Amino acid sequence: MDIYDEIGVRKVINGIATVTILGGSIMPLEVIQAMVEASRHFVNIDELQKKAGEKIAEWTKNESAFICCGAAAGLVLSTAACITGTDPEKCSKLPFIEDMKNEVIIHKMNRSGYDFAIRQVGVKVVEIGTESGTSPEDMENAINDKTAAIFYFYNVTRMDGLVPLERGIEIAKRKGIPLVVDAAAQIPPVENLWRFTHMGVDLVIFSGGKGLCGPQSSGLILGRKDLIEACALNANPRCFIGRPMKVGKEEIVGLLIAVKWYLNLDHKKLMQTYEDQVQYVIDEFSNVSNISARRDFPSEAGQPMPRAELIFDEKALGITRDIIFAQLKNGKPSIELAGAGASGLFINPQTLELGQEKIIVCRIKEILLNI
Ligand SMILES: *Cc1c(COP(=O)(O)O)cnc(C)c1O
Repeated sequence: MDIYDEIGVRKVINGIATVTILGGSIMPLEVIQAMVEASRHFVNIDELQKKAGEKIAEWTKNESAFICCGAAAGLVLSTAACITGTDPEKCSKLPFIEDMKNEVIIHKMNRSGYDFAIRQVGVKVVEIGTESGTSPEDMENAINDKTAAIFYFYNVTRMDGLVPLERGIEIAKRKGIPLVVDAAAQIPPVENLWRFTHMGVDLVIFSGGKGLCGPQSSGLILGRKDLIEACALNANPRCFIGRPMKVGKEEIVGLLIAVKWYLNLDHKKLMQTYEDQVQYVIDEFSNVSNISARRDFPSEAGQPMPRAELIFDEKALGITRDIIFAQLKNGKPSIELAGAGASGLFINPQTLELGQEKIIVCRIKEILLNI
């Protein structure tokens, strides 16, 4: 019996990804232990933020760092920071910013559901380009006195048609406009923690509860010192736009230790583990008729790691992928996987414990036997 059994909540084997709806990621024990220690004492939150930020900045080769309660909160705080700088008078006016810089540039092709977090600060999104592409001139022409920032939602597999990031950085620097990258799910690879800022990006945002395996309600903003100070000014414990996005002492310490844990991981070994799990699935289905199994690369958000892909011949098997999904979800244990096309599925090792790939294979075979 654990707390989930006690209150009647189904535990799920998550073969989709670090998705929020299933709980993000699983924290390593040392992160949980650090959170327990953090929970036992009062501390000054500003002092804790400052010290934790300094450590993370040093470890990740960045000028400055701020811990927030998720990448979406990072979008809110970054947007606010680009508008207000370190002027508390301006902070107090958000989201009513008619007389301030109130435009944010986003590629039409790069719009994201998460840009709500940018718009809630009160800015108007100025779209550049079309569905078929964007020229550097489109970006230059959109910049004016009202431009607060340029945002990119980064996914290595979906950059075609955008102004190349290097070029965007060059334009932003020349015009004196901050460029912010949402890289919430862009871990792995570990190098992304410094790659974007070393290219010249002003702020980069990561989710703490995805690849970093920190608390689900944590996020990380890395980059320019003055802008990070402006993020902190807009955030809890001050009563500005970030006040309802409070990050607690336990999450601050948890993410600090998660970053340390992640940086010290044997990344090569972890990738080999993912490869082995994927290969296991492929081998197990290699002789099963009407199912084709293959290695898919890169992963769902473009991360450089593999997934196993199974494609079902639904007619020949006499069962649809969606019925298989329903049975997996309603079985014991409950298993959630992502769809691949209309009749296939992905098994993503990133969120699997060692051995769970075997449970998934076993359950799929069981379902197929019982058609
Ligand atoms: C997951 C995600 C977010 C939100 O991250 P949270 O830490 O859950 O707030 C924002 N942007 C992108 C691109 C994401 O993938």
